[in-house]
Amino acid sequence: MNDLYFPCIFPRPGQLEVARRILDAYRKGAKLMIEAPNGFGKTSSALSAAYHIAAEYGAGVIYAVRTKREGERVLQEAKLFKEKFRIKVSAMLSMSDGCLLKKDELVKVEDELLPTYCLTHVMSKRCRYYERLSSPEALAWNQFESLSGVLNYATSNRFCPYMYSRRLSAESQIIVTTYNHILDKERLETLKATRENWREWMLICDEAHNISELAYTLNSRLISKKDVELAYSYALSKKNYNVAFVASTLINLFRQQKVNQNEMVLISLKSINNVTFKDRLRVVSSPNLPPAFDMFETRMQLSLMKLLEFCKHLAVSIDREDCRCFLINSEKGLSLKVCMLSADIDIKRYLFRSIVYLSATLGTNPSDFESYSVAQESAWNPSCVTLVDDTVTTAYSRRSEEMFRMISSRIENVRKNVRGPLAVFFTSYNVLHEVKASLSETVQSHCFVEEQSMSVGEQESVIDSFLNHIDGILMAVAGGKFAEGEDFKAGNLRSAVVVGLPLPPPSVELSERLKYISSVKGRKYAYESLVLVPAVNRVVQSAGRVVRNQRRKGVVILMDKRFAQRRIQELIPFWLKTNLFYLDCSNDIELRKIIGDFMEEER
Ligand code: SF4
Repeated sequence: MNDLYFPCIFPRPGQLEVARRILDAYRKGAKLMIEAPNGFGKTSSALSAAYHIAAEYGAGVIYAVRTKREGERVLQEAKLFKEKFRIKVSAMLSMSDGCLLKKDELVKVEDELLPTYCLTHVMSKRCRYYERLSSPEALAWNQFESLSGVLNYATSNRFCPYMYSRRLSAESQIIVTTYNHILDKERLETLKATRENWREWMLICDEAHNISELAYTLNSRLISKKDVELAYSYALSKKNYNVAFVASTLINLFRQQKVNQNEMVLISLKSINNVTFKDRLRVVSSPNLPPAFDMFETRMQLSLMKLLEFCKHLAVSIDREDCRCFLINSEKGLSLKVCMLSADIDIKRYLFRSIVYLSATLGTNPSDFESYSVAQESAWNPSCVTLVDDTVTTAYSRRSEEMFRMISSRIENVRKNVRGPLAVFFTSYNVLHEVKASLSETVQSHCFVEEQSMSVGEQESVIDSFLNHIDGILMAVAGGKFAEGEDFKAGNLRSAVVVGLPLPPPSVELSERLKYISSVKGRKYAYESLVLVPAVNRVVQSAGRVVRNQRRKGVVILMDKRFAQRRIQELIPFWLKTNLFYLDCSNDIELRKIIGDFMEEER
């Protein structure tokens, strides 16, 4: 235990202890949750333990992260251990990034269809990128230091990057991957199939506070009315009467109830939960069903595939008491959504010797995990001043042009009074754009805005431009791409504003989830675990971007009157409350004084 290797000579207070606890959890075969503040350096601690597990026991570690960008950062840190350990490390690409064939299609193949799409094409020898995996370049072992490195190498050699990353993972002892490969049953089985000794492996989940919500999303399926109708026509034309029967039954469900534009309603599955329908559903959702098409080029065939995927999910949910079906009317038209409200992660199926959750904000946790909080037991205390401005709010009932103007004028004031780049995190893209529209044209010209669909490369380029722009303002969303796992080039962000408390918007779906979880675990637990804790987690994660560098001080401004509430304050971690002031940020003089005084005191 004393020979734990750390790439830096002076680890931060508590980092070695965290690494030791992870190693200890592995030895005991235990499940452990570690809560440590942002900027503490959890990744280095976890990697230190991971390399020891690989070197000492010949086993390995799966390091699961939320986003690809977080995965890139783990690979970057892993480089620091390379000199000391001769351990193979690789990254599993997602199918959405690593499938080359889908890019050749005339229609967009959605991510949830990719496993079936891939299987169909590989089995029928219709994927040339798969066939090229027998080329010498694809058979060679390569140690890549980034996800883009794997992707570019395979793409330039014209073989499948996804399958190639699987091949590299099968030979590695540390595998970096996104949660999808762990939470999705089929993908986990694929990963497990690559080797036999999983019972000797450890699973480390970074930013683990996201797991429950991701598991819920993965256990939900949506299908549009248009896709069901197209699949029905296609199935009839191919004389596939089982599929046609199921599709026509679902079409009737769409007709069961009216729903206004931009609303959703709960609909009953009683009318379809009968022996005849379930028998047909079982047949069409059977994995043995042969692909019903030869080519993959028309919208109808894609719709059929979506229907089959939806049916697979419906077949396992329909008899569950927590299964709910919603009819949604959005700008894309009508769709059906089937969800499993409890959607707990079945940790037993993971079969790993030991599991470790890491987070700055774990919130409500599984009961069979031991826990360790760095906050309570270490001297690590990120230096930060927190200002709470309770004169504004983004609460739904108080949103107005006037409110957005008040917020934008305070952001402009903060911009004037802090040095260096400033990040502003909003509750949603809507609020972001409303506030941005109220900023002066001059300030708008300094803004860098997060878009909902940005590639890793685009994110990288936004961060580069933002950090190089004097007076730059990054406008992003709490819970979005820049609010977690982003270290702004090793801690170059010192000031952040969080505008509003990002509570989930009221909806029929949320109310059903609250009702169900309340009936099982009580109302307080349901509200805290589904509403309050995830919202505060997003705030804390966003604020945590300014304490990524322990030698520099950070400024966090929480703009919303709800941040002054007692329960919210209780959920906020110690480091955000050590230097806390209440201030109306339109007060230029006070703002300058507090921020100036704090930033002048160097450690
Ligand atoms: S083998 Fe690769 S490129 Fe071919 S379909 Fe599967 S994921 Fe896509």
